[in-house]
Amino acid sequence: MIDYVSLAYLLNIDISDLKSLIGRKLRLMKYRDLEYLVFTREAHGYNEGTVILIGKEPMVIYAYPSIRRLAFLEAASKYMPSDFIVEEKMDGYNVRVVVYNGKLIGITRGGYICPYTTARLSRLYMDKLRGFEQEYPDHVLVGEVVGLENPYVPVEYPEAPRFDLFVFDLMGKDKLKPLSLRDEVVEKYSLRRVRVLGVLSKKDSWRLWEIVDELERDGREGIVIKDPLHRVQPLKYTTVHTNIGDLRSGMKYPFDEGKSFLFPRILRLIAQGYEMKWDRKRLENIAYELGMAILEPAIENLHKRAYGKLIAAEYKLVFPSEEDLSDYLEYMETMGIDIVTSIEGTSEEGIIVRVMKLKQTHNEYGRILETGLSPLD
Ligand code: ATP
Ligand code: MG
Repeated sequence: MIDYVSLAYLLNIDISDLKSLIGRKLRLMKYRDLEYLVFTREAHGYNEGTVILIGKEPMVIYAYPSIRRLAFLEAASKYMPSDFIVEEKMDGYNVRVVVYNGKLIGITRGGYICPYTTARLSRLYMDKLRGFEQEYPDHVLVGEVVGLENPYVPVEYPEAPRFDLFVFDLMGKDKLKPLSLRDEVVEKYSLRRVRVLGVLSKKDSWRLWEIVDELERDGREGIVIKDPLHRVQPLKYTTVHTNIGDLRSGMKYPFDEGKSFLFPRILRLIAQGYEMKWDRKRLENIAYELGMAILEPAIENLHKRAYGKLIAAEYKLVFPSEEDLSDYLEYMETMGIDIVTSIEGTSEEGIIVRVMKLKQTHNEYGRILETGLSPLD
């Protein structure tokens, strides 16, 4: 039973307003015996992705703010008040980690407790994080989960090929805390942190090019530029390699990620071509890469569909226990996500499961093949 009176007080919303939000912009969810509310849209100053854990003492976990994207690296220093930190931007998924009533909980960007993430992170970090709840009450660690055993963005990192969390921020209520405090916490609890690639003064910002060039060569995602005190919004910038690579993976499913991926990433490349003054040769190479990234995976999957194959994203997940697996299956069902799973075996880490998420592209491609008509003009 939800205690609306104390919840309304905690959120500073009228009881009647609070009740009317539920089912519209606030979704009631449950993970094991923990009930929680998710802001599925912005309301009363709470951003989408904000969560309220409804235990004996309810806790509000604020949404992680979105980060502005730079078109030109040149513009970075203009937005920073003084010396700034350049961190690696890692390509995985955003997770807010809290310890609540002695248990570790992993929350996705959208504000849902992901049973898989929670299970894996609990195995890795629950022992280390003992004490965090008492020492840093109302604080939330935010990090990127990367690695191949990942149900959202499976990308292999040599430093974490399978699954790990790299902390990039510490939040206290709705505020991003100074990076020095984040680092103190990371050290104290033996966590892992994203790499700091430089501390630059506004005069030195040309050095951003050195940093980005190196990431480009190593095929890494990009950078996030932060004021060490978080007085201003951070900025993000991604490599050409990533902008094209995203398209290649998105265009496997043109009617899913493909559509929304296309224009923003082309715009990033337009800005890069301009700012980096690509010569004819460079432009031709990149244009070829870009064209291939758009067409090749899309055509390949159309062939597959014509041969009767399923157009689905595949993930290999490892669940520490049977209970974690059944929690995940139930969660997928609640979220309305269609998946097909098969158990592949067990390892020391747990139960190895292959998960297939059917894509909308499967149906759209099917219709195109059947009717011979295009759904777009
Ligand atoms: P946005 O977060 O701006 O709404 P998005 O969800 O599309 O956009 P990205 O374009 O990947 O996400 O960029 C922001 C995300 O980058 C953050 O939410 C976070 O998950 C991730 N990230 C990776 N490394 C860092 C880092 N060092 N600092 C901050 N965020 C990072
Ligand atoms: Mg990302």
